[in-house]
Amino acid sequence: MGALIRAHDWSATPLGPPSDWSQALKTLVSVMLGSSQPMFIAWGPERILLYNDAYAEILAQKHPAALGRPFLDVWSEIRDDLAPIVEQAYAGEPVRMDDITLFMLRRGFREEAHFAFSYTPVRDEAGQVAGFFCPCIEITAQVMAERRLAAEKERQQRLFEQAPGFITVLTGPDHMFEFVNQAYVRLFGDRGYVGKTVREVFPELEGQGFFEWLDQVYATGERFVANHVPARLQASPGVPEKEVVLDFIYEPVIDETGIIGIFCEGHDVTETHIAQQALAREKERLEILNRIGSQLASELDLDTLVQAATDAGVALTGAQFGAFFYNVMNQQGESYVLYALSGVPREAFSKFPMPRNTAVFHPTFSGEGVVRSDDITKDPRYGKSDTHHGMPKEHLPVRSYLAVPVISRSGEVLGGLFFGHERPGVFTDEHESLLTGIAGQAAIAIDNARLFRASQHQIAERRRAEEALRDLNHTLEARVAERTAERDRVWKNSRDLLVVVGADGIFRAVNPAWTEILGHAPEEVVGRSFLDFVWPEDAALTQGGLDDAAANQNLTNFENRYTHKDGTPRWISWHTSVEGDLVYAYGRDVTAEKEQAEVLRQTEEALRQAQKMEAVGQLTGGIAHDFNNLLTGIVGSLDMMQTRIAQGRTEAIERYAKAAMSSAQRAAALTHRLLAFARRQPLAPKTVDVNKLVVSMEDLLRRTLGETIQMEFVTAGGLWLTRCDPHQLESAILNLAINARDAMPDGGRLTIETCNTHLDRTYSALHPGVRPGQYVCVAVTDTGTGMPPDVIERAFDPFFTTKPLGQGTGLGLSMIYGFAQQSEGHARIYSVVGQGTTVKIYLPRFYGTVEEETEAAGLADAPRSEVGETVLVVEDEPVVRNLIVDVLKDLGYRALEAVDGPSGLKMLQSSRRIDLLVTDVGLPGMNGRQLADQAREHRPDLKVLFITGYAENAAVESDFLEPGMEMITKPFVIESLAIRIRDMIER
Ligand code: ADP
Ligand code: MG
Repeated sequence: MGALIRAHDWSATPLGPPSDWSQALKTLVSVMLGSSQPMFIAWGPERILLYNDAYAEILAQKHPAALGRPFLDVWSEIRDDLAPIVEQAYAGEPVRMDDITLFMLRRGFREEAHFAFSYTPVRDEAGQVAGFFCPCIEITAQVMAERRLAAEKERQQRLFEQAPGFITVLTGPDHMFEFVNQAYVRLFGDRGYVGKTVREVFPELEGQGFFEWLDQVYATGERFVANHVPARLQASPGVPEKEVVLDFIYEPVIDETGIIGIFCEGHDVTETHIAQQALAREKERLEILNRIGSQLASELDLDTLVQAATDAGVALTGAQFGAFFYNVMNQQGESYVLYALSGVPREAFSKFPMPRNTAVFHPTFSGEGVVRSDDITKDPRYGKSDTHHGMPKEHLPVRSYLAVPVISRSGEVLGGLFFGHERPGVFTDEHESLLTGIAGQAAIAIDNARLFRASQHQIAERRRAEEALRDLNHTLEARVAERTAERDRVWKNSRDLLVVVGADGIFRAVNPAWTEILGHAPEEVVGRSFLDFVWPEDAALTQGGLDDAAANQNLTNFENRYTHKDGTPRWISWHTSVEGDLVYAYGRDVTAEKEQAEVLRQTEEALRQAQKMEAVGQLTGGIAHDFNNLLTGIVGSLDMMQTRIAQGRTEAIERYAKAAMSSAQRAAALTHRLLAFARRQPLAPKTVDVNKLVVSMEDLLRRTLGETIQMEFVTAGGLWLTRCDPHQLESAILNLAINARDAMPDGGRLTIETCNTHLDRTYSALHPGVRPGQYVCVAVTDTGTGMPPDVIERAFDPFFTTKPLGQGTGLGLSMIYGFAQQSEGHARIYSVVGQGTTVKIYLPRFYGTVEEETEAAGLADAPRSEVGETVLVVEDEPVVRNLIVDVLKDLGYRALEAVDGPSGLKMLQSSRRIDLLVTDVGLPGMNGRQLADQAREHRPDLKVLFITGYAENAAVESDFLEPGMEMITKPFVIESLAIRIRDMIER
């Protein structure tokens, strides 16, 4: 500022250049510039302003323009405030201001500023006031701080005033009230606090601790914190007498002189306290209930549980005493025994009698329910009982009373729980229901305890027995453990599959052998369905097996295939057992065995085929041989006949003819057998009486068997009829007889037996193809060599023979088997080597009667035509045709001939007399059957006799033939042809 003042052009101001300034001004300026306190000088009539650095800060933006300007112009905005005191200073009166409030405009805005300063007038040499000198200090910051403080204080007061908690400020050692807030007045009443001491205001708090705590805080300066402190207050204006619970704090108020008072702040927590207490009580009650509940449920000692129930009742109701009386009802009329007491000594009860019928006890012991009285001294129910109304000294001072009967499950009053209190109205509805609950539990517990007591000696005895057993069990346990370990070992080490599978097909457990046999680790298998592992083609079969196993049909050797992890199948043979839902299966890998068996089967098959081929070879050889022999016989005989005829020697012709015939017939029989083997021989079923048939064969059989073999017939009486081809049956029996003869080269016995048989389902199950039902059985038994099993097995096979080449064809039994099958019957061999053989033929029972049959007769006896009946013969083979025509003519019939169907039909469509058509079946072009059908369109009643080598389409005649049609099989003997023709024409 010194520099500024020196540099200022003062000559332009009323002060003139500094050289002209008065000494006083010069001195003042230098004093001012030397001071660090803000100072200024107003000089001259214009009050020109000079100031120092500190004042420049007060001027703020007015500096430096303010230098050398009139003072009031500089402060024009506060001119009105300053002008009077500036005038006063110029009038020679010093001015002193401790706090002047000015609203200055020195930083571009109006601001409140506070200053403390003095104006000191300065006179010139002439003694006139030439100006004034002003040291000043801006106190704006202090003023503002004070003001904030004051505002803060007030806000605090207001806060205190309106605070929800009560607040008071006490001063001095006597704790005089300086301030109380509204909450305080509301809580403690309007007691005109301020100016009075605590002891004056609250005389009733004497002895409740508050005064002592205040004194202590004032003395020590240490705060005091109180939690849930009760205070009993007398009535005061606006507040009745009451007890409150308080949380509060006494905080010492300290200034530099030390402790000057106590600030107290607190809350009325009465309601919280009550709620907390109620909660605590409730908690306690729950605890008691829990405890007593579990105690009663588990306690078996009568004394303990009765005591527990009584104690619980006292704890729950707040009764002064409780008792449990046991109801005994003995002969002396005593009805109870004191059992447990709570809250009073036992002597209290021993002093006075307790007659069973006191009004107090009686209802309880007689099961009349709960009794509660708020005050038995005033209860009319007990009006007559002096004992209680008079309250004798020795009686317990009871007024509140609660009695709850303890009633057992069976309804027996076991006793009662009794509670008392000297104050009236103590017991509530809640107490009543709580104790009813406890009494109920106690009743059950008492029942149990009684049962327990009753059974205790039993238990003691059992225990002795158990102890004896225990030693045994120890060894048993050890054994079980051993077994378990063993089982585990088996599970782990078994080379076979051990599997636990649910009825749902999900594996529950599989043993490690699975990995060995099927490749998967057990973890890959457990939890999955068997369907994931079984060989797909065996899935249905396995499902069926599992269903059976789960339905408790234990499987044994149940075989199926599982897929190995490598994709190939494994045969497993299973055994199962079931437990609940689980099937326990034991499986053995039989793949190798299966493969061996298959190889064996194939080998056997190959062998059998080879044998068959061998047999065929034998047959061909045999037949060729047979035929050659037979043909030799025929050709030789015919040769001889021709020779004799040429020689004119006719006497030997008949012998040759017979020989030729015999050979030819044997040849025919051979072809017949071949056809039968081929299953192509036509059967002509008839109703057959087997007994009759067998007996009629006697002669034939005797001749066949020879002298060394005895023959026996055992024919059943009442033998059923059957239906079959009788000729085939004869031939079958003959074959059996021949086989028997061959088996008895040194003689023996042949038995032919007939009987009725019922083949049941069991038999048919064992022999597939046999229908259950009634059969006629023919059994042919010999005492010959017998057959080993392998021969029995194959004897029915065609071409199977054990006889040397040329002797056996291996077709006998095969034909018999075929015949039985075709007749819907059955054949069986029973044989023991060295003892003999039985072959049985079963033929189905026929429900009907025997048709009358004409016995075959010799040609000489054959009936002859009397009226020249006409027979048409259609046959493409001229030899046969001529033969037939010759026979017909021999018999006196008129014979017509045709070589084929169409020419035959032409004749049939004419009106010529034709009594019978004899036709070959196998004709070229139109066959015999077609011819017959078309002829019948013209002649519906035409009789037809078919001649056949074998029936192409029908083995059984009945399927082929209509009424008026018959069949004769080639080769036939002339006699039987004649008989059939005669028969048909006459019928
Ligand atoms: P063949 O008699 O031509 O050998 P079969 O079919 O009649 O043919 O018999 C087959 C085989 O059955 C006979 O070779 C014989 O080994 C055996 N056989 C048949 N019947 C008997 C029997 N009664 N006693 C012992 N073996 C018999
Ligand atoms: Mg034979």
